[in-house]
Amino acid sequence: MTDKSPATRASFDQYMFPNYAPLDVIPVRGQGSRVWDQAGREYVDFACGIAVSSLGHCHPALVAALNEQAGRLWHVSNVMTNEPALRLARKLCEETFADRVYFCSSGGEANEAAFKLVRKYASDHSGPEKREIIAFENAFHGRTLFTVSVGGQAKYTQGFEPLPGGITHLPFNDVEALERAVTGRTCAIVVEPIQGEGGVLPAAPEFLRAARELCDRHEALLVFDEVQTGNGRTGDLYAYMSSGVTPDIMSTAKGMGGGFPVGATLATSAVAKSLAVGTHGSTYGGNPLACAVAEAVMDVICNPEVLAGVRRRSERLIAGLEAINDRYGLFREVRGRGLLLGCELVEEWRGRSRDFLSAGLAEGLMILVAGPDVIRLAPSLVIPDEDMDEGLARLDRVAASLKAPA
Ligand SMILES: *Cc1c(COP(=O)(O)O)cnc(C)c1O
Repeated sequence: MTDKSPATRASFDQYMFPNYAPLDVIPVRGQGSRVWDQAGREYVDFACGIAVSSLGHCHPALVAALNEQAGRLWHVSNVMTNEPALRLARKLCEETFADRVYFCSSGGEANEAAFKLVRKYASDHSGPEKREIIAFENAFHGRTLFTVSVGGQAKYTQGFEPLPGGITHLPFNDVEALERAVTGRTCAIVVEPIQGEGGVLPAAPEFLRAARELCDRHEALLVFDEVQTGNGRTGDLYAYMSSGVTPDIMSTAKGMGGGFPVGATLATSAVAKSLAVGTHGSTYGGNPLACAVAEAVMDVICNPEVLAGVRRRSERLIAGLEAINDRYGLFREVRGRGLLLGCELVEEWRGRSRDFLSAGLAEGLMILVAGPDVIRLAPSLVIPDEDMDEGLARLDRVAASLKAPA
């Protein structure tokens, strides 16, 4: 007999690997920037999963694209290609620096392909000494063994040794350290335009320019991890577009499918050539359902008005956060770009970002953290002003409740 009793949070501890610690509420329905849980309680969504459901929940254009494709064709593998994948690849090439696209299902896979590609490109074009990947402290690039190793947070690699070698970590935004480290042995520099998981820390424009210049001088490839910053999140289609720096390879995922699992690695044709037939692949890569949804996402966000709307909403959100901070003095700094914002907590609140997350749920607000000291906000790119204002009002109550003497 199948157990028909309702699923509860306790079932997580009973049946699932203990690698997550989910909050107590179980969301069951979402519409736009509002979400409802099993008990019918309503929340304003300033999290979008983790910067994933970027057009809100159940956006009509995405629901239509998914339903249309669901009644047509789900999967054919990469033994054949398919129409949604071809249309999406063309759109990505038309809208970005890239000439070629590789599809996968997550950010970690998009970076895994990017990192394998820089090694393969070096192996195709240079001697065996040119294999070093330069990456940065605090960076986050995914959870496969290669991507945690390129990432710069020791807590994610501890216990998983031996790790892949040939990776050097440098302090983020340190131009001098970068100039000292890049040599003829360097095959790539890998950087997030804004470190997301690492604390919503924007790369300085001069740091990205130095990375580009050093890559050119030493014939290394510049890889931008835009898994979190891409797909309109910063108010540009991709963050590199307003940095004045163009990478050779870019990875993206998260907001790309608006909640449907899809990722991509983009590159110039000269670089992409190194992933020749048989060198890499993924069963689900280019899945028609995923690509049909991602195409619908692109159709919405490749629109100057929508991107201008992100920047306008960003100003409204920052103004609201500054007003809350004027009242409660909780934030040392509000930073980030577009609708990827981080509020770094003041000294006496350091280490307590998760308190805000649980207090948020109690007030009907979903927010994120980026490490122990930073509250991260990543609302929908099309969040209505009234939902934004309601979310800010709830955040004000969160701040008041935490500030109140126990
Ligand atoms: C989330 C994230 C990843 C990993 O993406 P997954 O889909 O979880 O594999 C990689 N890089 C950055 C910058 C991210 O924010």
